Parts: sequence; structure tokens; C-alpha cells
Amino acid sequence: MNHWNQVDPLMLHQGENVLRTLLAAGHQAFFVGGCVRDELMGQPVHDLDIATSAKPEEVIALFERTVPTGIQHGTITVLMDKFAYEVTTFRKESEYEDHRHPLSVEFVDAVAEDLRRRDFTMNAIARELDGTLTDPFGGQSDIGRRILRCVGVAEERFDEDALRMMRAVRFASTFGFRPVKSLWAALLAGRDKLSYIAMERVRVELEKMVLGPDPLRGLALLQRSGLLQYAKAALLPKEEASEAEGKDGGRAYDETKVLAWRLLHRNPPRPEWLTALPLLPPDPVLRWSLLLQSLEVPGEEVSRLLKNWTFPNQIAEETAAIVRFDEAWEATKPELLEEQALRRKWIHLQIEFGRDIAQGWLRRQFALLQVSAYGDMTEQEEAERMSVALKWHQEVPVHTLSELAVSGRDVLEISGRSGGPWLGELMKRLLLHVALGELPNERQAILEYVESVVEEDGDKRAD
Ligand code: ATP
Ligand code: MG
Repeated sequence: MNHWNQVDPLMLHQGENVLRTLLAAGHQAFFVGGCVRDELMGQPVHDLDIATSAKPEEVIALFERTVPTGIQHGTITVLMDKFAYEVTTFRKESEYEDHRHPLSVEFVDAVAEDLRRRDFTMNAIARELDGTLTDPFGGQSDIGRRILRCVGVAEERFDEDALRMMRAVRFASTFGFRPVKSLWAALLAGRDKLSYIAMERVRVELEKMVLGPDPLRGLALLQRSGLLQYAKAALLPKEEASEAEGKDGGRAYDETKVLAWRLLHRNPPRPEWLTALPLLPPDPVLRWSLLLQSLEVPGEEVSRLLKNWTFPNQIAEETAAIVRFDEAWEATKPELLEEQALRRKWIHLQIEFGRDIAQGWLRRQFALLQVSAYGDMTEQEEAERMSVALKWHQEVPVHTLSELAVSGRDVLEISGRSGGPWLGELMKRLLLHVALGELPNERQAILEYVESVVEEDGDKRAD
């Protein structure tokens, strides 16, 4: 059988062309790693990685468009149309330093030798053009039994590269695989080596885990193993951290440690919030905002915390905005407000935080309703409140100044005054009036309103 069900047909076609070109030049060439694994598991394949006996210079010579992305490790990226294929020369790695980096790589002749350096049996399968598999470590069988197993001796493999422990937790979580005993024992024995790994690499694995279909499984594995407490941004509970501060010559304690500690805590303050996590779309902002709130991280800490964990600034900030939106909404005590007052609050917040944040928050809220995070008594009420909030959300006609039918320049002209902070304030007021439906978004109507306000102000000044 030789067809792929999980690959974009165009990406596959061009990838097969890369293989054909290599084969025609007398080299060996295989699809390897994640793509072979995902196809066997019936999961969508994102990219096709290729392993070949051709040396990097030979790969460069064979293709028109190449990028030497990792030439020192034997990796050349071959570009075809809009697709990119990582083509890596068969290699083995000898001795590692810092529990992460191979001291040297040596090119080898056989694909089986190349598969030996790979981390887990399911990631160590090669596939030829005609569909033939090379699977020296029983990867297919392990996939069938939903088992996660290292290639070779787990202790040694984790000692060579400590990132593999995080990858193990991530794969066990996203695929729902059970780590074999020897892998788990090696992870417990070697967990302190995670301190050698750049935080960014740890964060990437953590992110994939949280965005996967069953993040709670990954969190449970992290809790059981205690692995994360050895991350570079290591962990200490707040009290211990302040003690350590004293001993450590007043070194300010690292907030990232507090996050790790909270992530590892067996009893999160809001466990029912965690259960809503898998119901959210796999969007980092939505999922991390819910995760952090389930750990009771306040909105003002979120952005700094995520940045310390090397999250991109935009994700850190949007995540913090959703948490702050939630806090601001709750602070209005919505259960006590009449509908009209609640509507004003909603629209105020929607203008302040923007449409996307409000919508993200609504998504979360409906996920929470699904898991009844509100308790039976108030659930019905909360559901109704969310339905009207959604209606308001959709009705708001403008969200930003640029959507207003008048510009700052128009307002300045008609007022006959010179610019100043008043202009910005007035524009915001106009936006809010229009958003609330108190003023139509029409040039004439808005300008008339501006004139009346300016006159009033003039009268006041004259008094
Ligand atoms: P993903 O679906 O996240 O891309 P992947 O298995 O493809 O998962 P990559 O980081 O793309 O992960 O790596 C491609 C392949 O390279 C893996 O399947 C594995 O064979 C090998 N590999 C990656 N990282 C390591 C590592 N730290 N140690 C050993 N082999 C690795
Ligand atoms: Mg991959």
C-alpha cells in the first residue's frame, strides 16, 4: 500500500519529487520522523522531513532553491513552490556536551544507523517512495500499543539530551501514549538535567502540550514527575522563595519559579476551570489565559510571567488582556446589575479591550459553561447573561476610532479650537456614544453633537 491520507496532496507531490531527484542521482532517500509517525497514527501531517545518504553539498547542487538552515548538522532546506523540506544527511551523533549538544556529528551510510540517534521508537521509522518502512526499533508496534519508548537505553538518551524528557511528556500528552516503565524511571532519575536546557525549548514543548487534545494529561505527568521544577526558570513556592532571597544576598525571586510551582501543584485553586481547557480551540492566548487563571495568577502578573517564560510578546500581552478583561467584568458584579447597566459595562469593556479580546473571553466563558464551572444554582443565570453579552458583542457598530464616520481633523475644524488633550478625550467619548447606540455613526449627526458639546464648553468657560 502506498498512499498517504494525512498529507496535503501538493506538498506530498513536491516532496516525492525531492526524493525522486535524490534517488535519480544515485543517493538513498526516505521520509522520516514526525511525518511517518503521524501518517501511521492517522494524524494530520504538517511537514515532510527527508533523510538521505547525499552530503549537504550534493543536496545543494541538486536543487535550484536551497537554504543551508543547519548545514553543520547536515540539514539543508529545499524549497519547492511554497513548500519547504528539511533534507538531512544520515548521521550519528557522538558524545554530547551540556546534556543537549552533540560535540560532533558524523555522516553515515545507512538509514538504520541514522534512525538510531532519534529519540523515540515512533519517531525512528523511515518510509520509502514505494511505501516500504524501515522500522528497526519496533515503532509501529509501539504506536499500535500506544506506548512511548526511547530508542536504546532511556537513561543514556536523556543524559545525552535532556530536552527529550520534555518531549516525552509532550508526546505522551498529545497522543495519549503510556511511557514504558524504563522511560519513566529514567525521567525521574534524570529530571534535574532539565536545568541545562534553554527555557525557550522547554516552553515550546509545554506550548505544544497545552495546545494538544489532552493538556490535563500532560499537566498530570508534569506533576507526577516534578520535571518542571528543574527547568532553567526553576521553581520555588513563594514563601520558600522569599526565604531564599534572604539567604541569597537579597536576589529578587524569580516569578517564573512561582509559575512552575503553580503548574505543578496537585490541587489547583480552580480545578473546574482546568477541565474546560480541552474544550477551547487550540489557541495559545485562550488556553494559557484559562490555565493561568485556574492557578489564580492575577492579570497584572500574567504578561511579565509569560515573557519570562520566553513567550512572544504579543501572546503574553493578549493573554494578560483576557485575564484583565475577566477581572474587570467580575469586578462590576454582573449578577447585581440590571440589564441596561450591564450592557453599558459590557460595551465599555469591549471598547477598552477591543473586539478580539472580548470575543476570546466569550469563547472561554461558553467553554466554562459547558463544564458547569458555575455550580447548578447560578448556571442558568450565567448562561443567560452570556447569551445577552454575545448579542451586545455582535451589535456594537464600531470598535476603533478609525471606524468612526468622522476623523479627529473633522472635529478640530468644526470646533474652531486648537488641538490638545481634549480632542483625544472627545474622540473617545464619541466612540463610546456610537458604540452604545446613543449616536448614529453618521458624519452629520456626530458633527452636530460635537458642535453642541463645544458650545456648552464655551458657555462654561464664559461663566
Ligand atoms: P512535531 O510534530 O512536533 O514536529 P517531530 O517528531 O516531527 O514532532 P521535530 O522536532 O520536528 O519533531 O523533529 C523531527 C524528528 O527529529 C523527530 O521525529 C525525531 O526523529 C528527531 N528528533 C527531534 N528532536 C530530537 C531530539 N531532541 N533527540 C533525538 N531525536 C530528535
Ligand atoms: Mg516535525
